[in-house]
Amino acid sequence: MEYRYLGRSGLKITEITYGNWLTHGSQIENDVAASCVHAALDAGISTFDTADAYANGAAEEVLGTALKGQRRESLEVFTKVYWPVGPKGPNDTGLSRKHIMEGINGSLRRLQMDYVDLYQAHRYDHETPLEETIQAFADVVRAGKALYIGVSEWSAQQLRDGQALAKEAGFAIVSNQPQYSALWRVIEAEVVPASKELGISQVVWSPMAQGVLSGKYLPGQPAPEGSRATDEKGGQNTISGFMADDVLTRVQKLRPIADELGLKMSQLAIAWVLANPNVATALVGASRPEQVAENVRASGVKIPAEQMSRIDDALGTSVERDPAKTQSPGTRVA
Ligand code: NDP
Repeated sequence: MEYRYLGRSGLKITEITYGNWLTHGSQIENDVAASCVHAALDAGISTFDTADAYANGAAEEVLGTALKGQRRESLEVFTKVYWPVGPKGPNDTGLSRKHIMEGINGSLRRLQMDYVDLYQAHRYDHETPLEETIQAFADVVRAGKALYIGVSEWSAQQLRDGQALAKEAGFAIVSNQPQYSALWRVIEAEVVPASKELGISQVVWSPMAQGVLSGKYLPGQPAPEGSRATDEKGGQNTISGFMADDVLTRVQKLRPIADELGLKMSQLAIAWVLANPNVATALVGASRPEQVAENVRASGVKIPAEQMSRIDDALGTSVERDPAKTQSPGTRVA
């Protein structure tokens, strides 16, 4: 397993991170979740990503329990704040000072940890002054509850504004967590160039387009049993945007490219995002330990330029590139 630096910081993280959105505390049983975490550790993954909102806190609890007994210094644990949690009252959401301070305490309690390595703003909050958010993050860092600060799905301008304020407050934003895959490239035009200037890495989610780029969904055929596309607790909804027959048909054209490189399609998809030098890690999910073992073999794989361009030809118009798709909900009304 290879390591990369997180932004301009000195923190090294594994280039494949295990993430537990939709799985822990929801799609899969706790014993399977623990086996997936142990498969990740066995394969050399030391970086783990979760969020307070995943399964309304249950995902952090399951991950914390699965990691119990591991040497804390040998792990990098990431969590997030912003989306509604608990009873979802007016202050149980967003990036106000109140919610950030209460949010970090709740996350640490559920994870059974004294600190997280990376605390991330899960979206941009249009309702809270950015100064208030950044000052609260600075205080979380000074209290030793998080070592580094990151954000998720922020636009290029939001990253610039946030980094300028962070500098004044005495810390740096080290990462942004956007969706990125061969099918979803909206960060390439604006977010990546701004991030390079600002010393910010991308920590990318859904590198396999939620499993679609593994090639297991065939056009015109029912989704395999137990897959995310059959998960009625949430997965079926979130994956639906990629499930059109024309997209699935184009994805099948990647199979010969993967075959000639001696890779599984899942590994090709993960190696594809890691080819972007601004990407520090691919956040990969799994519903079974065997998937983790397969996916980690993408670490260190370099896809030759010829195959990179054939991937573009195969996916053609199915690729989303519009930078305006980097969005956070809501606006402040008063
Ligand atoms: P992926 O694109 O890696 O999809 C993972 C899913 O694909 C698995 O749960 C599994 O689903 C399927 N899969 C995994 N490996 C294989 C394989 N080898 N062959 C076939 N199918 C496979 O990423 P996710 O969408 O899960 O996102 C990863 C992480 O990113 C999350 O856990 C979270 O940490 C983060 N994230 C962050 C967001 C944000 O807003 N910041 C939003 C979403 C995710 P199944 O077996 O059920 O089909």
